[in-house]
Amino acid sequence: MIVVLRKDATEEQVNHLVEKIQKLGLTPHISKGTERTIIGVIGPEDILQITPLEIFPGVEKVMPVLSPYKLVSREMRDKDTVIDVGKGVLIGGSRIAVMAGPCAVEGLDMLMEIGREVKKAGARILRGGAFKPRTSPYSFQGIGEEGLKYLAQAARELDMVTVSEVMDTRDVALVAKYVDILQIGARNMQNFNLLKEVGNTKKPVLLKRGLSSTVKELLMSAEYILAGGNFNVMLCERGIRTFEDATRNTLDISAIPVIKQLSHLPVIVDPSHAAGKWGLVPALSKAAVAAGTDGLIIEVHTRPEEAVSDGPQSLKPATFGSLMNELQPLARAIGREI
Ligand code: PEP
Ligand code: MN
Repeated sequence: MIVVLRKDATEEQVNHLVEKIQKLGLTPHISKGTERTIIGVIGPEDILQITPLEIFPGVEKVMPVLSPYKLVSREMRDKDTVIDVGKGVLIGGSRIAVMAGPCAVEGLDMLMEIGREVKKAGARILRGGAFKPRTSPYSFQGIGEEGLKYLAQAARELDMVTVSEVMDTRDVALVAKYVDILQIGARNMQNFNLLKEVGNTKKPVLLKRGLSSTVKELLMSAEYILAGGNFNVMLCERGIRTFEDATRNTLDISAIPVIKQLSHLPVIVDPSHAAGKWGLVPALSKAAVAAGTDGLIIEVHTRPEEAVSDGPQSLKPATFGSLMNELQPLARAIGREI
């Protein structure tokens, strides 16, 4: 449930209430707005029938949250969440964040070369997988910690922020040591132990929608991370399975406004994994910006034909550069920057 405090509630009244909620065995999540403070109360709420929170000084009203997701819901925060991912890069504000780079980190030289190109085109976040979730156990699985070290070095030398996937609960601390944003891949969206583990950190998390998951299931997965105390979560639409086989997946453009209505968390769109073909990526990126995405994550490779994974959907730097230029007027048209 959500406790809305009066505009004139004092710090002391808020603290008193928070203490009381904790004593009742419930968990308070405080959200301080410009106007007033809201406290999300999570846990077995039956106890509140005996001690109703309405009677506490400073409380204006107590509202039940009807949706199964609570902390991620709009009711919890009416303002959009803006995540500071470091080096002055904000996600969820007026500037649309662009993450770009290879599907997999293959080596330092290629990462630096691609990093320089995407930065020149305007991307501020470098992507690259060191642990790769592959359909076949015989496919390239990623270079592990070595790849994370290259990402950290590229980030330092290029003054960029990095995002990389973590697949295993045992690797969360390791990946968090080297990169700025932890990616939870589509296949792990409902790996609840992994969600709890990243929820215990304060690291920003890019949570990708499962291949056959509903928006509601995506929000429930995000709820796991917020319930652990980590509110720095962005939700990624990366295409879902449908009967259509002209594309690798079907980009669910509707998910953008739907998530924006239901949640305060930023939305990121991955047109590369949705399309599966590089030629479709520019059009899908533009559609995503027009529909209100807060960011894009795009695969770029200098030699896609030699890429160890996802070459067919990777843009060459020149195409990525043109796309970035074409996105500028679109972003401006909807009152944003890129
Ligand atoms: C990726 O980002 O390279 C990736 C494997 O994405 P997804 O989990 O969306 O398939
Ligand atoms: Mn990929």
